[in-house]
Amino acid sequence: MANLYKVVNADSTPNKEGQIIEYIQAYVEIRSYKTRQHLFITQLGNKEMMIGYSYLYKHNPTINWQKSQWEFTRCLNICAYKAYKT
Ligand SMILES: [Zn+2]
Repeated sequence: MANLYKVVNADSTPNKEGQIIEYIQAYVEIRSYKTRQHLFITQLGNKEMMIGYSYLYKHNPTINWQKSQWEFTRCLNICAYKAYKT
């Protein structure tokens, strides 16, 4: 991995694992929307995965927080052809 990423927690404290030095490529599937992503490896406490701002900004999903539902209705053409419907 060419670049190292300094990791801070949500409360701005340094992550105990330090810099991110590894990532994997994997498919991320949310409802019927599946994309291939780089997933950076670090310690997240009791969480398995955290979705970053860049992903949310890029796909701009409509999220119903009360029903825990996601809809990808605002994707631009540039990412729509890369997504896989399942
Ligand atoms: Zn998208």
